[in-house]
Amino acid sequence: MSDCLFCKMVDGEIQPDVVYEDDDVLAFRDLNPQAPVHVLVIPKRHIATLNDLTPEDAELTGKLVLAARELAAREDLADDGYRLVMNCNAHGGQTVFHIHLHLLGGRPMGWPPG
Ligand code: 5GP
Ligand code: ZN
Repeated sequence: MSDCLFCKMVDGEIQPDVVYEDDDVLAFRDLNPQAPVHVLVIPKRHIATLNDLTPEDAELTGKLVLAARELAAREDLADDGYRLVMNCNAHGGQTVFHIHLHLLGGRPMGWPPG
């Protein structure tokens, strides 16, 4: 997807602050952090929204969560806790249409979210 911001990051056209990378997953710090730690974990393959996931993506989506878990440990969030969020479409507040997992931590997260 040539016009997708996160695909441009995967392709190296835009260089975010990368904190994790493997064959399938890229993670980088959010440009506009909502918490002391705010990392976005994305699949390298373009998937626009959660609605576009198929059963074949089960392993990939699991890898996103496991990468977030690893990063939470590295950022020393594991004991205090943290939040993982995926937004879908307008009511979910999705603004970038390449799925991503938000890893948020370093302060207590409110509930319910706004
Ligand atoms: P969404 O609202 O789609 O769930 O989350 C998109 C996230 O991408 C937002 O938290 C926003 O701050 C982040 N974002 C938007 N543009 C950029 C960018 O150019 N670089 C980085 N690192 N994050 C971005
Ligand atoms: Zn994309």
